[in-house]
Amino acid sequence: MPQESAELEEIRRAVRALCDEFPGEYWRGKDAAREYPGEFVDALTKAGFLAALIPTEYGGSGLKLDAAAVIMEEIQASGCNGGAAHAQMYIMNTLLRYGSDAQKQEYLPKIANGTLRLQAFGVSEPTSGTDTLSLKTRAVRDGDEYVINGQKIWTSRAEHSDLMLLLARTTPRDQIKKKTEGLSMFLVDMQKAVGNGMSIKPIRTMMNHSSCEVFFDDLRIPADALVGEEGLGFRYILSGMNAERILIAAECIGDAKWFIEQASNYAKDRNVFSRPIGQNQGIQFPIARCYAQMRAAELMVHHAATVYDEGGNPGEEANMAKLLASEASWAAADMCVQTFGGFGFAEEYDVERKFREARLYTVAPISTNLILSYLAEHVLGLPRSY
Ligand SMILES: Cc1cc2nc3c(=O)[nH]c(=O)nc-3n(C[C@H](O)[C@H](O)[C@H](O)COP(=O)(O)OP(=O)(O)OC[C@H]3O[C@@H](n4cnc5c(N)ncnc54)[C@H](O)[C@@H]3O)c2cc1C
Repeated sequence: MPQESAELEEIRRAVRALCDEFPGEYWRGKDAAREYPGEFVDALTKAGFLAALIPTEYGGSGLKLDAAAVIMEEIQASGCNGGAAHAQMYIMNTLLRYGSDAQKQEYLPKIANGTLRLQAFGVSEPTSGTDTLSLKTRAVRDGDEYVINGQKIWTSRAEHSDLMLLLARTTPRDQIKKKTEGLSMFLVDMQKAVGNGMSIKPIRTMMNHSSCEVFFDDLRIPADALVGEEGLGFRYILSGMNAERILIAAECIGDAKWFIEQASNYAKDRNVFSRPIGQNQGIQFPIARCYAQMRAAELMVHHAATVYDEGGNPGEEANMAKLLASEASWAAADMCVQTFGGFGFAEEYDVERKFREARLYTVAPISTNLILSYLAEHVLGLPRSY
């Protein structure tokens, strides 16, 4: 392991201790019932972990991104599922950077003390997919309000969040000069919105992720729900993406560590042909390869977080971290099932659950192809492909 500060080591220990209270049995139950792990999220909130990035003046811990990354990594490495709570970490950046003083005063202390959850991020739409600039949800100014119409999809945790960061079009596409203009960001009070122009429909997915469709039908929100300036929402989203990529990559590292640990332990214990299966190189080598792959990705995640925390622009590093870490976690998931053989499919070992959960990260929040496009175009100078 790379040398870490005493502060980060202490955070790791504390997260591990909290996660020990939520063993596989807890997650299996939630998974089977497709139930939100509210107790786990409450415990993380109470311990202050989800307020890691909130400045101390608003009741948070004022930590840097490397600490947030350690928290997310340890949750995954403990066999828990940070997908229930990770948005609060990566949405936070937008509110901190672009929110008004009034919005910060109003919301941050309540998010920090757990009165409010900021867990929903409404960007994806059914017809635009990865092409965010084609999104169709409209926000039209009407006096002191905006009127929202349209639909979002894959808005995870929408049923379990009090606030949603919403991206909507404020200027029609044919009236903008640059195609990146005309989208705006809003902080929507979901408690007020549900039943008053906003409705939520859960999507059942292969893992327990509380993802939803969200429909807007003349939802009226106050004009001061606008975050930053009208028309600059896409720019704000882009600037938050590095933090999002780094945090998700850290989760993937945690997953990879969990799979590698499970596989190593099982390979030492499981006897077939009167000897541990781990004595066979055919079992050892895939585990060792996954370990090397995970460690290489981990270095990139740390490097990206350091560049971010030092105020640099880690576009290249954050994208590479996400690419390498999501591939490392998926390779480790596949290796772990192979190592467990038939028991890899039995629910009681949690391998099949974590396997399903780990599959997400080469697709969302951003799919591998789009990361490769970024690297090809912005780092290597190749022609734009879309
Ligand atoms: C469980 C889950 C949770 C999610 N949570 C959220 C959330 O909370 N908030 C939110 O806003 N979104 C969320 N998403 C949406 C997620 O960000 C998108 O699914 C993801 O960005 C991919 O978009 P898409 O599904 O529309 O795929 P599409 O855009 O339809 O793409 C399909 C495939 O084509 C590829 N592709 C598309 N265009 C190109 C191109 N030009 N070059 C090469 N390949 C291309 C993509 O990489 C992908 O592999 C979630 C998704 C899932 C599955």
